Amino acid sequence: MTRPARARIDLDALRHNYALARRLHGGRALAVLKANAYGHGAIPCARALADMADGFAVAFTDEALALRAAGIIRPILVLEGAFDADELRLANRHGLWMVVHHEHQVRMIEYQPDLRGLHAWLKADTGMRRAGFSTQAELADAHARLSASGKVADITLMTHLARADEPDQTATTRQIAAFKALTGGLPGDRSLSNSAGVLGWPAARGDWSRPGILLYGADPMPGAGHGLIPVMTLESRIFAVRGVQPGDAIGYGGRYVADRPMRVGLVAVGYADGYPRSAPSGTPVSVDGRPSRLVGRISMDMLTVDITDLAGAGVGSRVELWGRQVDVNVVARAAGTVAYELLCNVKRVPLDYS
Ligand code: PLP
Repeated sequence: MTRPARARIDLDALRHNYALARRLHGGRALAVLKANAYGHGAIPCARALADMADGFAVAFTDEALALRAAGIIRPILVLEGAFDADELRLANRHGLWMVVHHEHQVRMIEYQPDLRGLHAWLKADTGMRRAGFSTQAELADAHARLSASGKVADITLMTHLARADEPDQTATTRQIAAFKALTGGLPGDRSLSNSAGVLGWPAARGDWSRPGILLYGADPMPGAGHGLIPVMTLESRIFAVRGVQPGDAIGYGGRYVADRPMRVGLVAVGYADGYPRSAPSGTPVSVDGRPSRLVGRISMDMLTVDITDLAGAGVGSRVELWGRQVDVNVVARAAGTVAYELLCNVKRVPLDYS
């Protein structure tokens, strides 16, 4: 081992969270593994779930092909669909399921002679106002043309919830009603729920759910006590300790000024590893299992923590940046972002699986 920094990945926790999602939502669940499984490693995560997941979802075809190349044979849905006809043919050859969210994708399917048995997930826009068909006429037209194309084995109707994690229920209630209105009368399975939908919205149940962030143990409604287990622990060690005096400013920009004699631990993780530079002094960390806090700005390769009151803490002490002791949601909030971004950004540190 060289630098003492790593992200430990607990695959049992991943399996626990997937099982919980499936139990809560009912029906079948596609485990969302896009962006390298939100930073956790798509291939090991897919393998860990291979015997229990109904299928997987990724953003792009190349992410799906990497899973196929690693021997993952379960269904894989490509959430962004195909960009062009070559990609569509390639995806079809590998049996990938494709989201169809735009008129040009419908046309591609209609006019590609050598497609067959495509599983299409036809996307309705019910409020996100990004991808998807937003009127009943457009959705019904796309559905009819895909059905008549002779290339499509089945069509699942889906939408994506924009605000299911918020306490105000108005927007999600509207989206669910809009989905019913848009899809009424059209045949096919239904899929509405992301993680927040699975955890908080029984009314959004469908035949399929698509949980992402919850699989990794980061609750999109923090504090709700859903029983998720954090999968990633980002940890390092203190590699040096120094004393600072009242009035000393710690780190770049001199943002933190000591108001008493302090002991500061230098930790071998920085923003180049994915720890957010915007995390302010005071953001919680754990040192040898005891609560502590950041002091001073995050550097590229190191950060500094206050160990003044932690008797016995020093060189070699284990520091958890997030995991079971430090909720990644708390760090994200302190840094002005979301757990999704922190987890996806983990890089340079090795991922250790257990
Ligand atoms: N479904 C779709 C279409 C998505 O784009 C995503 C992620 O952005 C998900 C499901 C998973 O979302 P979450 O990680 O919030 O569960």
